[in-house]
Amino acid sequence: MSECKEASSAHSIAHPSLWDLDRFEQNWSIALDTLMREEASSLIPSARVRWQIEHCEAFLDVHSNWESIAPDHRLEAWKRLLLAAEEACRTILPLCIRCGECCRLASPTLHLEDLPLLKTGKIPWENLLALRIGEPARSPFDGKPFLLSEERIKIAEKEGSRECVFFNSEANQCTIYSDRPLQCRAQGCWDPIPARDAAEQPFLLRSHIFEGIDLLLQVIAEHENRCSFQALSEAFETLGRSRGENVEQVLALLSYEDHFRRFVSEKFQIPPQYLDLLLGRSFTRMAPLFGFHVLEEPDGTRRLVPEAPEA
Ligand code: SF4
Repeated sequence: MSECKEASSAHSIAHPSLWDLDRFEQNWSIALDTLMREEASSLIPSARVRWQIEHCEAFLDVHSNWESIAPDHRLEAWKRLLLAAEEACRTILPLCIRCGECCRLASPTLHLEDLPLLKTGKIPWENLLALRIGEPARSPFDGKPFLLSEERIKIAEKEGSRECVFFNSEANQCTIYSDRPLQCRAQGCWDPIPARDAAEQPFLLRSHIFEGIDLLLQVIAEHENRCSFQALSEAFETLGRSRGENVEQVLALLSYEDHFRRFVSEKFQIPPQYLDLLLGRSFTRMAPLFGFHVLEEPDGTRRLVPEAPEA
């Protein structure tokens, strides 16, 4: 008897004819999650898929009228809604809804075509950084890691995240939308081809930005010569081979590179906020790429501390 009652109550909850709007929305949320897991392409941000489904005519109609649909017709309306949602999942429309998902996943890499945005101050230098030869990067298309064989100039990302510095997360907006770089203009989560075509365009290099400023070009060359990313990788490899014993080589390189940056900033009166573009990120900031961070003692000496493994 009691089993019968339970079965009947489970049926009443599960049957659309008895759902109020709250129950409809709860079940819709579950159905939508399942649908997106099973039907939507994993390359398209989930916010984009959700937006399209919840803007399709069937959803707007059924959702806004749910309580006025006669109970006997709700099962039919629910089925109609699920079919329309499946269709919307499979045919993502070619339109940017400015969901900001791509701005949160990574900042763009710049191309030669973007140089006027720098020259006119639309994208200020202090928001840029150079990634140097040998640094690890991730493909914007499949997320796979690779080592750079040529330098890249990128817009900086917010501290502790991959979000572009120009993304206003509260307003969900790009703050330089009308002056956004080529990669952002070409990016469309519904179609990767324009972004792949854009990636074929020549990349922006420091030699383009500082063309004609021989002093800065010499500083860059000298820094590459004395503090290459490869030298940093080798020092950390040596540290690994010595099972953590041979720490001096890394510390000496970190100190030397810090000294180089300070010297350049003071001697040529270059504000420190431009150094990430001129020289790339400091070796001290890049130590976490090798599984360490640098701890400075009160007396000024430094220690390398292994990063805690991720929980
Ligand atoms: S520049 Fe604008 S559009 Fe491009 S990633 Fe940054 S916030 Fe997004």
